[in-house]
Amino acid sequence: MMLVATGFPLYLWRTGGLDFLNGPEPSAAPPHFLDAPGAPALADRFLADARDVHQSVACLLIDIGGLDRVRHLNGGAAMRAAQDMCLMRIKAHLRVGDAAYRIGDARFLVLVGPAARLDLEALLQLGARVQSSVEDPAALSEMTHYLTACIGMAHSRRCAADITGAGFLEAVEAALEEAALHGASAIRAWSPSLDRNVATRRMIRTSVVAALEKGQIEPWFQPQLCTSTGRVSGVEALARWVHPERGVIAPGQFLPALERAGRLSRLGEVMISRSLAALHHWDAAGLDIPSVSVNLAEADLRDPHLSERIKWDLDRHDLAPERLAIEVLETVLASSDECAVAKNVSTLASLGCRIDLDDFGTGRAPIATLRRMPIQRLKIDRSFVTGIGDDPEQRRILTAILSLADRLNLDTLAEGVETSGEHALLAQLGCDHVQGYGIAEPMSLDAFDTWLPMHDAKIADVPLLSRKA
Ligand code: C2E
Ligand code: CA
Ligand code: CA
Repeated sequence: MMLVATGFPLYLWRTGGLDFLNGPEPSAAPPHFLDAPGAPALADRFLADARDVHQSVACLLIDIGGLDRVRHLNGGAAMRAAQDMCLMRIKAHLRVGDAAYRIGDARFLVLVGPAARLDLEALLQLGARVQSSVEDPAALSEMTHYLTACIGMAHSRRCAADITGAGFLEAVEAALEEAALHGASAIRAWSPSLDRNVATRRMIRTSVVAALEKGQIEPWFQPQLCTSTGRVSGVEALARWVHPERGVIAPGQFLPALERAGRLSRLGEVMISRSLAALHHWDAAGLDIPSVSVNLAEADLRDPHLSERIKWDLDRHDLAPERLAIEVLETVLASSDECAVAKNVSTLASLGCRIDLDDFGTGRAPIATLRRMPIQRLKIDRSFVTGIGDDPEQRRILTAILSLADRLNLDTLAEGVETSGEHALLAQLGCDHVQGYGIAEPMSLDAFDTWLPMHDAKIADVPLLSRKA
């Protein structure tokens, strides 16, 4: 059975025993391609050899980036030539007794035979050498291509003494999965903690959509303060998965899985609806929260029914549109040539919702876009705020952003304000609003209900003038 696929499903590692190898034994005439059932059997043999001589073996799983691009630009024959070239480059760093195979369109498996001096350091050096030669520019079909190599590694000494070939390959797969999270050119070695990470990621992938439908993903609220009065001028709704066994899971961990499942728009719906319900609850409780801001993904902003849906939700909760702000990432506005996004943003603004440009400074939106779109507030990204107290250069950049906003007649909010010094300086520099851990972290609705009266009591005790300083 030939498996030619980019991914290499884990369960196939475990189906060893059907065939041994795709072709003759590797020691006789190594085939270039190893089929799925052959891999665990081969790893078993390397591990058994190592045990016989009381030495270690290792395994590298390499994911090559850029082969699709070669196929796209130069065709299938060029991609096959690139695959052969990668295998040659990998093999150039191996010794007699090691083995290297292609096991998928872009995946290569290396088994490093028993050696006395094969410690983790030596393995990392081998990984770095392999990576650097695979990433050397490649001249193919009269073009220069730049491939990347992401590498997972497993060392038998770090694994259980009786690990099987299939277990060894699962370990290296977990290491590669971890490496892939850190970029196309990352290298990671397996350690027991990686298995926990992988198990968590798998749980997230398989249960996030059901969790959203069950209402386990809810908005938490982070206050935004007006720098001149110190009062809460609004709250940002940030998604949290409150898992019944694992506790609170941050959006960075589950948003990619929701995106892959095509459910980001559903998240937007849930967040808007529950945030408006929270506003309604605060109004009924006599708490003064002027507005709630909700983050919308590009998928939401392309939805032709978005503004109708929001209007219906506002009416249902008996709230004026001014009470809702929509946070649009600068990168979305800058890169989107979709009229649908621009149309939705304009319709929502004419409805009366405020439009905040999120992560401002990171997305290179042209000034013309800032003028053309109905944006009311710039949310200055945390990277421009951190360290303003100590770094004059950082302060100069921030001042330039504030004067740009002033010229364009836009409100400003600084994100990631972590210290009272930063808060005071931002107030002095004329930034209109602040948000950050220095004021409060995002909180559940219940926690927010407790926090707000305490905050109001605190500012009532402070004379107005000193609030700005
Ligand atoms: P964001 O919209 O830029 O939200 C601000 C993030 O910074 C939040 O992380 C917040 O908890 C964190 N933060 C706030 N103050 C500070 C601070 O003083 N220091 C530091 N270091 N961090 C601070 P969180 O909640 O983990 O959200 C991360 C990102 O996930 C958000 O970045 C947003 O892009 C996205 N996100 C969150 N909720 C949603 C949602 O409902 N829908 C969509 N589409 N994206 C969401
Ligand atoms: Ca935001
Ligand atoms: Ca932000």
